Amino acid sequence: MSRTNDRLLLVDGRLVPGAGGAFETINPATEEVLGTAADASADDMDRAIAAARRAFDETGWATDHAFRARCLRQLREGLRRRADELRELTIKEVGAPRFLTFGAQLDAPVDDLAWFADLVEDYGWERDLGRAEPMGMPSHRRVVREAVGVVGAITPWNFPHQINLAKLGPALAAGNTVVLKPAPDTPWCAAVVGEVIAGETDIPPGVVNVVTSSDHALGARLTQDPRVDLVSFTGSTATGRNVMASAAGTLKRVFLELGGKSAFVVLDDADLRAACSYAAFAGITHAGQGCAITTRILVPRERHDEAVEITAGALAKLGAGDPQDDRTICGPVISARQRERIEGYLELAVKDGGAFACGGGRPEGRDRGFWIEPTLITGLTNDSRAAREEIFGPVLVILPHDGDDDAVRIANDSPYGLSGAVHGGDVERARGVAGRLRTGTVSVNGGVWYGADVPFGGYKQSGIGREMGVAGFEEYLETKSIAEGV
Ligand code: NAD
Repeated sequence: MSRTNDRLLLVDGRLVPGAGGAFETINPATEEVLGTAADASADDMDRAIAAARRAFDETGWATDHAFRARCLRQLREGLRRRADELRELTIKEVGAPRFLTFGAQLDAPVDDLAWFADLVEDYGWERDLGRAEPMGMPSHRRVVREAVGVVGAITPWNFPHQINLAKLGPALAAGNTVVLKPAPDTPWCAAVVGEVIAGETDIPPGVVNVVTSSDHALGARLTQDPRVDLVSFTGSTATGRNVMASAAGTLKRVFLELGGKSAFVVLDDADLRAACSYAAFAGITHAGQGCAITTRILVPRERHDEAVEITAGALAKLGAGDPQDDRTICGPVISARQRERIEGYLELAVKDGGAFACGGGRPEGRDRGFWIEPTLITGLTNDSRAAREEIFGPVLVILPHDGDDDAVRIANDSPYGLSGAVHGGDVERARGVAGRLRTGTVSVNGGVWYGADVPFGGYKQSGIGREMGVAGFEEYLETKSIAEGV
């Protein structure tokens, strides 16, 4: 294998091999081995944490706002210069459909770094509370915002650039130093960010460390190490629970972006064809591998059969296709393990009395790669496991509702609370239903909430905290109150 197909760790400003050797990264559409990523050992992680600690404690990174803004812009420009290469890499490593790389899978998160750079310059880092005489002692009070310290960023494979950069952007803007530990399925997407930081920015050594590894346990070290101040985690709710428990040992701050099982509510005055066609498109984009994807479609009971026909027809027409093709919406799923997991849910759905209005298996003619047909499950209730649990594949469940109150009840009858959608003819009414959903984001009539300035995150077991927006930036800040005797 050529050197160009091996990617390295970034530790203390240097691109280095992993002491654990290297592990393969695979194209999920073809099972082709793309190359290798450095496999970090526990010692590599230890060095990365030490470097991040030193860079935070012993350099001016945390206090030089103008320098940080400049570095973030350099990072954005460096990534943009490599956009063509990154696009191909992302399609191959993530199985992301090409069209998505012009949005949330690549271009949008790279561009969003500019928003965080601007925020560093515009943010009110200090607030003057003026004079007061608490307990008769004249004092001048100020509230200062400053970086938390060393951030351990642990990320999943489904939207790697979006999630890696949605952590690096605000964490660095706030003045923290970072150890990024990406998912073993998509090490290259993180490693190239390390290459750009090392080669094309003035970001000082140790400020960002990228530690790829085939071993999940390396992430756990970030949650336990007392030198790490905050863990910013995106991944499954099950792992999120472990992260929180493990971080409790050193009372770290934890910021969690977790799973979802979001509802797509179609009201009885909606244009059923438009709504269900959109639900099909939204539900299987990137093979359903998005935490905020609306995977439970709630339709008026009296129009259930019609809704099934429209949705199933749209899913079958969209199909699963080569992610290289501009027209593909649904590519492969990330791995054999994920495919098995999804197939387990398909079996479970049938056992629980469900039926497939379309799909239900692997697409014909795709013998290589990890594929699942776009699938619509009917005949389940909201308490069956396939309707309640996150499947993370191109699999939608359609459920009937008996009016707005019932739709809200079913939508909220979930341990998750990440996102949701409402479609209706009367916008006021749709807005009212949206307001009753216990979720961190809601789309009304196809509105798109994604953006650098929009906080994103979960209610209930979908997470703690917000990513993006000013609220997301402030997750990475401490608050210090200073009073001077006058
Ligand atoms: P995962 O929870 O298996 O892994 C996520 C990351 O955590 C990986 O880097 C993994 O190596 C690491 N990890 C695993 N065990 C760990 C431990 N004990 N301690 C510390 N780190 C550990 O998730 P995944 O399969 O990579 O991604 C899919 C999940 O991510 C889905 O549940 C999805 O909903 C969720 N997700 C959530 C959001 C969001 O913003 N809410 C966004 C994308 C994905």
